[in-house]
Amino acid sequence: MKKLSDVVRLVYHQSYLIDYPTASCETPERIQSIMKVLGGMFPIVEPDPCSESDILLCHSEGLLAMEKQDPVRYDVAKLAAGGAITAADLALDGTIAFGMIRPPGHHANPDHNWGFCFFNNMAIAIRKMQKEKRIQKAVILDIDLHFGDGTDTIFKGDTNVPVLNIQSSNPGDFIRETEAALSSVGDTDIIGISAGFDQYEKDWGGNLSTGDYRRIGALAGDFAAQHAGGKIFAILEGGYYLPDLGTNAHALIEGMGEHIG
Ligand SMILES: [Zn+2]
Repeated sequence: MKKLSDVVRLVYHQSYLIDYPTASCETPERIQSIMKVLGGMFPIVEPDPCSESDILLCHSEGLLAMEKQDPVRYDVAKLAAGGAITAADLALDGTIAFGMIRPPGHHANPDHNWGFCFFNNMAIAIRKMQKEKRIQKAVILDIDLHFGDGTDTIFKGDTNVPVLNIQSSNPGDFIRETEAALSSVGDTDIIGISAGFDQYEKDWGGNLSTGDYRRIGALAGDFAAQHAGGKIFAILEGGYYLPDLGTNAHALIEGMGEHIG
């Protein structure tokens, strides 16, 4: 029987701890809180920054030029997208990957961004894997409190990449909506989870428990096993209740790996 630590990889870079200009709640401590729980548990893989051409797979020249005006933040944002690429890459190589990345990305649209997001990390990773012909199709499951408008816009009308934004405001409905959404999509090449933890019962959403994150991870893990050749990864989006951020990320990962062994 395989152990979870044999199959899970964390994607992390110390530059995610840089205090770049952003909203006061989107702090380096978010990553530290997760590292405190997960850091000693699983092997860590350090990503490279994404390239400009990776960014242009999903964003306009105008947005790129605008983001370059803050060089400190630009470098970390490129590293966050690079972290998502590394997580997708690890998943395609057969490990379960969790990207402990910041800044988040799901509110980054082709030519504008908001909500503490600068580049759409998830979308860049999926478009890059498609461009390199490593995948044709992907499913994106977004469990953040906030609707991932950037990801939704980027893949709108693209039947190869259904984006499942789960929005129910009580735990029972949230789980049922996740199940229904996953059963509404067909076989794919990979599933990526935009893992926001701000639906947590002590976070802004006042909704999901730690056990619910494990359950959601397991639903996605089962989907991956049955419909995506076991290829699954998650990347951090929102989540601001620092004391339990690591515990919830751990629960999600445990769920994602439940079908292993
Ligand atoms: Zn959010």
